[in-house]
Amino acid sequence: MNLPFILAKRFVAGEEFGQAIGAVRELNSKGIAVSLDLLGENVKSREVADQTLVDYQDLIKGIADEGLNSSISIKLTMLGLDIDADYTFDNLSRLLETAKSNGIFVRIDMEGSDYTDLTVSTFKKAKESFGSNVGIVLQAYLHRTAHDINELAGINADVRICKGAYSEPPNLAIRSMSEIRNAYRLYATTLLQRTSYPRIATHDDELINWTKSYTNTEGIGKERYEFQMLYGLRQPTCEMLAEDGYNVRVYVPYGTMWFPYFTRRLKERKENVFFVLSAMFKN
Ligand SMILES: Cc1cc2nc3c(=O)[nH]c(=O)nc-3n(C[C@H](O)[C@H](O)[C@H](O)COP(=O)(O)OP(=O)(O)OC[C@H]3O[C@@H](n4cnc5c(N)ncnc54)[C@H](O)[C@@H]3O)c2cc1C
Repeated sequence: MNLPFILAKRFVAGEEFGQAIGAVRELNSKGIAVSLDLLGENVKSREVADQTLVDYQDLIKGIADEGLNSSISIKLTMLGLDIDADYTFDNLSRLLETAKSNGIFVRIDMEGSDYTDLTVSTFKKAKESFGSNVGIVLQAYLHRTAHDINELAGINADVRICKGAYSEPPNLAIRSMSEIRNAYRLYATTLLQRTSYPRIATHDDELINWTKSYTNTEGIGKERYEFQMLYGLRQPTCEMLAEDGYNVRVYVPYGTMWFPYFTRRLKERKENVFFVLSAMFKN
């Protein structure tokens, strides 16, 4: 499918790294850190996974050369998780070597539930060698997160907690928004109490305000955690949080493989469809 990039422009910073640099610099100039994501998922051949590794290594060098305040986010299916777990781990290790030598942090995104087990075990293995330079994501909607959160807090893992973006069946995931929020608060509490630097990823005012008030009551300083949001969403809120002294990071995706990411954003909120339509008419 060859849809015009203009559709995705609201949520994706460009099709090339060079196009994304401006967006990163602008956020950095407002005191907001970034995590760059070279879009793509579910790579089916070793040839493409090998090339993805090279592209990501180039991205890491690009971030360092350009002096950007940015980590990277990656999906393990881009490094071969649909092909072979050991091969994926080798690719990830090579990526982490490059990242470590350039002082860049790597976050492993969480994908659909078919990949949760392997993603968690690959992360744990990587953390043994790369320590705090690698992090993971947990999804509050999954029932299994009640177990994973304790296990990962027990090794002081660097966790981004989010609600979860994939369509999952009720035997695996909570469906009601109020229950997802309750689970989110419970897991964020675990991370804030038991890990060094949790990442609170949400655009939801209820959860943002809860985090501010919980940390305030518990005497947890603003330097002990960060808020994370997606590029193109709630930018004024990000700026206000940064101005108020909170650490804020924006997830900035770029690349030609933007369609699945873009579709998830549209499904999440009907307002996102209006953003796309208005972008089409403005250009
Ligand atoms: C940095 C980051 C990284 C992520 N990484 C992953 C990942 O690795 N794996 C994964 O499965 N998912 C990931 N997600 C997606 C996440 O799981 C959710 O699908 C997504 O964030 C939507 O949930 P929400 O809490 O942000 O708000 P929603 O549940 O979409 O909205 C809740 C309420 O928040 C408010 N709100 C939300 N958006 C806006 C807006 N744009 N403007 C004004 N108000 C708004 C509204 O009041 C809305 O009713 C990530 C999200 C972020 C922010």
